[in-house]
Amino acid sequence: MNLTDHFTLEELVFSQTAVRDNIDNKPNNGQFQNLKNLCVNILEPVRVSINRPIAVTSGFRSERLNKAVGGSPDSQHMKGQAADIVCFGMSAKSLFKRILELGIPYDQIIYEGAQTNAWVHISFDAVQSRRSILLATFPPAGGVQYAKLTKTEAMNL
Ligand SMILES: [Zn+2]
Repeated sequence: MNLTDHFTLEELVFSQTAVRDNIDNKPNNGQFQNLKNLCVNILEPVRVSINRPIAVTSGFRSERLNKAVGGSPDSQHMKGQAADIVCFGMSAKSLFKRILELGIPYDQIIYEGAQTNAWVHISFDAVQSRRSILLATFPPAGGVQYAKLTKTEAMNL
């Protein structure tokens, strides 16, 4: 089912972990509406603006799936409000900066970039727009740490 011209419900709910571990990853009506809002307000404008395919590496996560992949306990992925994205042929850092330049109404954007395979986490919330910009780093001891960035700091990464 198409949510926008370039994004389908299937790609927003697909998860290898869910398939492998037989985890139900079906959104309810509210979560479905949030996924649609995320596509309409964030993913589609990014896709159209950079004119390259965007791959969603993680979109909606049921509570069980979020636990299985080690997601944050209050992750916006569980509400259908967030997606992790990459763009082949463009570094995650470039994608991150391009999105910041677009002025789209994201709630939170995170450059998850301390590893060689980096990605961008981005969320949309119809009732709040915190405009939060974070840098995620992954300490050798494990886990993840987040640092708040100003837009200027983010553009200078
Ligand atoms: Zn994420």
